[in-house]
Amino acid sequence: MSPTRIFIALGSNDADAVARLDAALLALDTDGVRVAGAARYVRGPYLTAAGDVDGSATPVCNTVAEVRSALPPEALLARLQRIERAAGRVRVGGTSRTLDLDLLAYGDVCCEGARLTLPHPRFATRAFVLEPWEEIAADFLVPASGTRAVPVVAHAATLRRDHPERFTALDPAGAPRFADRAAACTVLETREDLAAWRSAQPGLVGVVPTMGALHPGHASLVQRAAAECDAVIATLFVNPLQFGPGEDLARYPRSFEADCALLARHGADAVYAPSAEDLFPTGFATWIEPGGAAQGLEGAERPGHFRGVATVVVKLWTRTRPDRGYFGRKDAQQLAVLRQVVRDLELPGEVIACPTVRAPDGLARSSRNRFLSEQERKVASTLCAALAALAQRAALGQADCAILERLAVEQLERAGLRVDYLVVVDPTSMGAQTTLRGAALVLAAVRLGDVRLLDNRWLAPALGVAAAPTALDAGGRA
Ligand code: AMP
Repeated sequence: MSPTRIFIALGSNDADAVARLDAALLALDTDGVRVAGAARYVRGPYLTAAGDVDGSATPVCNTVAEVRSALPPEALLARLQRIERAAGRVRVGGTSRTLDLDLLAYGDVCCEGARLTLPHPRFATRAFVLEPWEEIAADFLVPASGTRAVPVVAHAATLRRDHPERFTALDPAGAPRFADRAAACTVLETREDLAAWRSAQPGLVGVVPTMGALHPGHASLVQRAAAECDAVIATLFVNPLQFGPGEDLARYPRSFEADCALLARHGADAVYAPSAEDLFPTGFATWIEPGGAAQGLEGAERPGHFRGVATVVVKLWTRTRPDRGYFGRKDAQQLAVLRQVVRDLELPGEVIACPTVRAPDGLARSSRNRFLSEQERKVASTLCAALAALAQRAALGQADCAILERLAVEQLERAGLRVDYLVVVDPTSMGAQTTLRGAALVLAAVRLGDVRLLDNRWLAPALGVAAAPTALDAGGRA
């Protein structure tokens, strides 16, 4: 059974607010409470109890942490208040917030009481809560009594639409210095060290395969794995097998130290970073050649790409022996191919699909975004906008895929993007569709200068027929 997902909001406008929050996270991470991850700090204006900005007060530094604990909500609240008191907090008027810890959500618990209301009654109006919460748990369904649960990403999108100024008023204030968690994130380089680590894990193990240059999209995968598994191992390996002859392997960004810090912060227990020689020693000559979902689209544009991806993932899967492997919907065809490979080769373990994390303008986070110029970066958001417009036309009744595709391609080309492909496909087989009948996916690859961007979006054929991930696709990030 997956552990209950519990979230805590932390704030301080002390002279050394960042140190206060660092210390609070460490204090929290003891005696039956484990901090699975914490978002980067954001600094925002002080709000009065009525929700108005008090420009005369010191701005407040905030984050949101996910914790795991068997303590019931009331006992957890008492623990938070003890940590506040130990930091010197006195609950009287004034604008000084030495340390403020709030229980934001406790799984699907909804309650309203004098001491505790869950979820926190004002989270949906607070950008300084939703911004960090979205970073670490975009897909968490915030329960609501008497109505349906809505994911954090959709709450954030609504507030961003209604009050964008609340988000633009936030400034980055650094990352948590989560000393003992960072130390706990073991870096494993050899096969023997990995085997020893793996044998020592008694519970569910989640693996998050990555090529490094990590961003909030990767962080969300680790966070999800940390919430659902007893131990999480991320792999960092820039896989030479999946780069074609004209593709620049040497240019792929590398940031090992920062990647390890991010992984630790978001709840990874170990990082496996093998060398290319170790994974593919001289004489290596056996490949996994996926058919089916691997044909067409990226498979056609980049011959050999999926055979490189499948081969490395099967090797990493065999070595890490995960109960669950976490992959992003951002790379929808890759996800379909890997599901197919795990199924066809009967690999033990389950493939888990995670929602796409987006920048506020909708652009899917990608390590390639850093290569876009300022001007290109503005144009790039058209990709998400064109897919959203296509989804809207589909929901309003246009079921002819050729028309849907043509209109979207025209929109992209008008914006200056070169379209490699834009196709409505079946989500499992990746086969092209001519008429929308059930849930489908639209996949697109475009070029902007020498940067290639991928995106996709779920489609529902008619108004009111919503495929599950469509709700997550609403607005800013999905
Ligand atoms: P990469 O390091 O680019 O090979 O990606 C590693 C994993 O992160 C893959 O499962 C990707 O689908 C996933 N990923 C990449 N970008 C995002 C994103 N913006 N949101 C969610 N997952 C992502």
